[in-house]
Amino acid sequence: MNHAEELREIIGRLKELMVANQEMGFDFPALFPYTNGDLQERRTASRTLEDLERSIGDCRRCKLWRGRTRLVFGEGSPQARLVFVGEGPGHEEDLSGRPFVGEAGRLLTRIIENGMGMKREDVYICNVVKCRPPNNRDPERDEVETCIPFLREQLEMIRPEVICILGRIAGRELLGRDFKITRDRGKWYTYMDTPVMATYHPAFILRNPARERELKGMVWKDIQEIMSRLGLEIKKNG
Ligand code: URA
Repeated sequence: MNHAEELREIIGRLKELMVANQEMGFDFPALFPYTNGDLQERRTASRTLEDLERSIGDCRRCKLWRGRTRLVFGEGSPQARLVFVGEGPGHEEDLSGRPFVGEAGRLLTRIIENGMGMKREDVYICNVVKCRPPNNRDPERDEVETCIPFLREQLEMIRPEVICILGRIAGRELLGRDFKITRDRGKWYTYMDTPVMATYHPAFILRNPARERELKGMVWKDIQEIMSRLGLEIKKNG
């Protein structure tokens, strides 16, 4: 048998095997149905938030791992229309492994549930860095640069209709170095082709009790902007 005949016979047997398998109800993998580019796209499209969290694993890519108790990946609906982005886990988040569960988190939850009329589990909540900086200091450049690709992947997977930035650090990291929360909150920006609204971080309100009414009023105004963008009903005195 020459090479051509041999090849023909192998292909014939493969065909028979595939047909027999199909008749028994098995799916067989297509041999060359996709180009490399297609394959890459399919891999990304089928990657889930759980896959991403798993791939981050017991992260030691930057120095923050040394002081953390638990990595705080983020939580909420993978189909969220709205994603909140804070700066990084605080003490309670570090202990629990969940974002925004401390005092500032409870205020955020009230904004979402009492103000917006949504459920916390219907939005997605995450941070620029996934591990707590020591003594809640601002995350450093190398830490942000190491961690922010994960945030970008989360946003890429969720593709929300609106991103709400909480505070100056997330604003600076997502919208540029000259971002100023007092000047730039309450305006629409774009990040990764998604409309972005920045507002005061709930912790900032808690740290400034003398300005609580004023700051809450500004946050509520920004939240109303987001609600109208999402087509949500705005209740008076929310
Ligand atoms: N502050 C943040 O920025 N993120 C949290 O998860 C908690 C507090």
